[in-house]
Amino acid sequence: MADYDVLIIGGGPVGAALALALRGTGLALGLLEARPRGTAADARPIALSHGSRLILERLGVWERLAGATPIRRIHVSQRGGFGRVELDARQAGVPALGYVLDYGQISEVLVRALEAEGGVDLIRATVGALESGTDAATVVAAAGDGRASARLLAVADGGALPVARLRIRDYGQAAVSARVSCSLPHHNVAYERFTPEGPLALLPMGEALALVWTTAPERAQQLCALTEAGFLARLQESFGNRLGGFKTASSRAWFPLALKVADRIADPRTVVVGSAAQMLHPVAGQGLNLGLRDAWELAMLLRDCDRVHIGGPELARAYSARRRLDRGGGVLFTDSLVRLFSNELAALKLARGLGLAVLGVIPPARDFLARRMIFGARG
Ligand SMILES: Cc1cc2nc3c(=O)[nH]c(=O)nc-3n(C[C@H](O)[C@H](O)[C@H](O)COP(=O)(O)OP(=O)(O)OC[C@H]3O[C@@H](n4cnc5c(N)ncnc54)[C@H](O)[C@@H]3O)c2cc1C
Repeated sequence: MADYDVLIIGGGPVGAALALALRGTGLALGLLEARPRGTAADARPIALSHGSRLILERLGVWERLAGATPIRRIHVSQRGGFGRVELDARQAGVPALGYVLDYGQISEVLVRALEAEGGVDLIRATVGALESGTDAATVVAAAGDGRASARLLAVADGGALPVARLRIRDYGQAAVSARVSCSLPHHNVAYERFTPEGPLALLPMGEALALVWTTAPERAQQLCALTEAGFLARLQESFGNRLGGFKTASSRAWFPLALKVADRIADPRTVVVGSAAQMLHPVAGQGLNLGLRDAWELAMLLRDCDRVHIGGPELARAYSARRRLDRGGGVLFTDSLVRLFSNELAALKLARGLGLAVLGVIPPARDFLARRMIFGARG
């Protein structure tokens, strides 16, 4: 007999959200997380969509994410080119287009909620290997001789273990994240500016702004090594003066970027969710939003599933089918944005300008874009 009905590998935001969504089902639930308790996750900024807020409200944790900064407008433009588009929360019929928080805070709040409310065995251990059998799958600890089995393994490890076959596109880009302040108030506007080296986003975060700056990996490392004054000068050159002068920069870190998409997200005993299923470029802030929808939809299927069918072929088929459109849409949207905007070909620059201008003046096209960003491809 299996130790668990569902065993989740990875207690990042997606794995933890899945565990929270399964509380109260009577299923035997376990979650394995490699990071020791009390160690902080990184401070990358995350823009959660209104759709993610609705999921987190249903999980009962939204009010604990105090201090999330609402995005009332998104301003999209390209450096050195014409055309721009503005998305507005009121026009989209939502209180905010998104909410900015840091990754560490979201992870911490979700794991604390799991610890406080019980119902899930939270085990601090690194999984080294998975073995799939007919009636159950087994995880093997990376160190020691620990093992645990489950009817279903839900892999939410961010892609650390080689579970699924991946389609990979290396963008040859990295993202620098930082907190910056500037001389003009942000008025809760988020800026997405496409530059020849990659997109540069500035998101309102408290009184300050969270920066996600895409560039070549070598330049990302150089930018992180610069003095604060040197970094601010480069940022000013790239972003321009729309927010006045940049004054301070802290918490600089860089992340390599690639698109990694799992060919299959479900086999009878194993499903993958979140970044383990699709790791996206951070342009347009889609990755975690998509991952939370993976977790939510899988949880809904498990809630409707007889215990004996958990880990069976029908559940695998239903989960794959349920996620196809949303995943495909998210991948296509972010990948197209990166490839269309990260170059200086004159014809493309003109087409981009025209595209942005058209989106800017045709409300249905703009509202379509806003709904996709808020609710995903099925919005
Ligand atoms: C710079 C940057 C900015 C971003 N901005 C946004 C944004 O604005 N909006 C958005 O929606 N998304 C954004 N993303 C994407 C977002 O960070 C990811 O989509 C999200 O972190 C995925 O969550 P996850 O839980 O699937 O995986 P992860 O966050 O990677 O968590 C995986 C967890 O699994 C654990 N783990 C790994 N291996 C093992 C193992 N062998 N055994 C046990 N545990 C293990 C890890 O310790 C970790 O806790 C951004 C990404 C970057 C890099």
